Amino acid sequence: MKNKKRFRNEYSELTVSQLFAISRGVAVRKGSNRCFYCLGWCGDNNPAREYVKDSFTGHDSVGGGAWVCDGCVEAMRSKADIVLLDGENRHGQRVWAYSWVVEKNRSRAATKRHRKQLLDICVSPPSLPIAIVLSDSGKKHYLYRSRLAWDATEMIVSLEGELICYKPLDLLSAVALCTEVVSVVGKPALSTRLGMERLAMIAAVRGQDVVDKWMDLEGRPLARLAAWIVPGKAECCDEIETKNER
Ligand SMILES: [Zn+2]
Repeated sequence: MKNKKRFRNEYSELTVSQLFAISRGVAVRKGSNRCFYCLGWCGDNNPAREYVKDSFTGHDSVGGGAWVCDGCVEAMRSKADIVLLDGENRHGQRVWAYSWVVEKNRSRAATKRHRKQLLDICVSPPSLPIAIVLSDSGKKHYLYRSRLAWDATEMIVSLEGELICYKPLDLLSAVALCTEVVSVVGKPALSTRLGMERLAMIAAVRGQDVVDKWMDLEGRPLARLAAWIVPGKAECCDEIETKNER
């Protein structure tokens, strides 16, 4: 318990970018300035005028200011050596092109083919604090605007920049429900609210109970997270078949 408290103190002021850099062996220098991007404490080593590109458009997502922290410099690298969740090493990669699982001693990248592993981590984080940063488009920087989760029972993830809080059991239920829905109407259908025709299809195949539950969940942040995590229609059908065979 004593250790836990000390640990929290040591890390509690770090932002996701800074933990990301530390986990990759970068010395993150502290100071009395706030980082332009993540608002973490930083020195006057990296001037914003040099490190913030003219093409940067996310001004509504940053703190502003004159300096960029060492964490954000690392988190925005365009040629980084990275390790994926399955252990694959890749060289010269754009950090923002991937989803990330950031822990104290390691930061692992993920692509859409790691959805299953990402779900496991979202439900049962291997260590705390942790940042789970899910990127759908791979086109924007999301590490600096994400949050660390400190409590495995009250988790937070970032999905394409949206911060979503959830309880792991609720996510599991939402994913199971979403799997049933996608097995009938496919994943692209979930980009908007389902119309009567699709709801009737789901009721015919999976039962009215699934429709009622989905209408309750639809539109909520947890539904967006579940919809992102579930695989495509064919795989959802397979998963349900396998479950029913057991
Ligand atoms: Zn920063």
